[in-house]
Amino acid sequence: MSPLPTGSTVGIIGGGQLGRMLALAAARFGYRVTVLEPGADCPTAQVANRHLAAPYDDADALADLAETCDVVTYEFENVPLTAARTLATKVSLRPGPEALRVSQDRLLEKEYLRALGLATAAYAPISGNEDVGPVMGAIGVPSIIKTRRLGYDGKGQLHLDEGSEIPDHLYDHLGGVPLLAEGFVDFTTEISVVVARSLTGEVASFTPAANEHRDGILRRSVVPAPVPDRTLTAARAAAASLIDSLDYIGVLGLELFVLDDGSILANEFAPRVHNSGHWTELACPTDQFEQHIRAITGHPLGDVEAQPCEMVNLIGDDVDGWSDLVAAGGWRVHLYGKDEVRPDRKMGHATRLR
Ligand code: AMP
Repeated sequence: MSPLPTGSTVGIIGGGQLGRMLALAAARFGYRVTVLEPGADCPTAQVANRHLAAPYDDADALADLAETCDVVTYEFENVPLTAARTLATKVSLRPGPEALRVSQDRLLEKEYLRALGLATAAYAPISGNEDVGPVMGAIGVPSIIKTRRLGYDGKGQLHLDEGSEIPDHLYDHLGGVPLLAEGFVDFTTEISVVVARSLTGEVASFTPAANEHRDGILRRSVVPAPVPDRTLTAARAAAASLIDSLDYIGVLGLELFVLDDGSILANEFAPRVHNSGHWTELACPTDQFEQHIRAITGHPLGDVEAQPCEMVNLIGDDVDGWSDLVAAGGWRVHLYGKDEVRPDRKMGHATRLR
């Protein structure tokens, strides 16, 4: 199949900063962009040709996307699965619904990673108060209890430290929704691999980044991750095997824990461009956003050779310093066009070479 010609239309479900950066990359190839996002004046709509302001599962809006777009993609993992499945019967949805199905449920995701032969933390589902005793007996403390669905940036998680009492009615306490108990991993470093797969099955991964979080939110990524070469190689191999197995088209982010001995445990993956890959816009000939647009529009993947760099997220008030970073030089600053500053809100990021 030949690549989509310039002037074609790319649909994006989700109107946040990831959609915005995808839209900017699409525009560089002369593609038009339509975004489906209920929120008004969202970061993506500010730079898109057309904004369908409707819920993600709105039948009319989805029919419009299918009719008017040459390819549709998404910028977040919680796109309603039925909407994605319906859409995929009418228009090329890349990546397809399978990656959403697996990544929307932490239990399915961990089972999928294990079936690929990747090591993970110990885990077990908690589906009611009656499961708490047996599961916590097996997993023990320290551990982390996560909601199976709709958790992000550490939300919906409970940390149980060594010696801590396991609350009675833990299940009800966390909202009466399906949970996953995970053994606490005493990692030295958290790393991620941003990997892409083209329509012809070509795979390319960016250099793994080391990620520092605070309050569950990514603050800083350093590239290359300061871990042994064999760890970098194993992480890239894990990402390649995952993306192949999902028969995936586009960019995906895989998060891993590195242990003392350099071995890795897979934590989770996001079927989209990833915050820990924003540095690629400065440090690589092809950034993750162009890579995704290349993949979904049928182009070959681009060059992923990376220079050492660091990326910091501008969260909440951090953004007030953006123009000082610009003045200081060396930093590439990228703001997301969000008016309202909130303490935990990602407002932008900045990258510099090291
Ligand atoms: P997640 O939503 O799974 O990405 O978890 C958010 C953050 O919590 C991760 O980036 C880790 O810093 C931490 N975390 C998650 N799972 C574990 C685990 N099993 N052991 C230790 N830390 C974890």
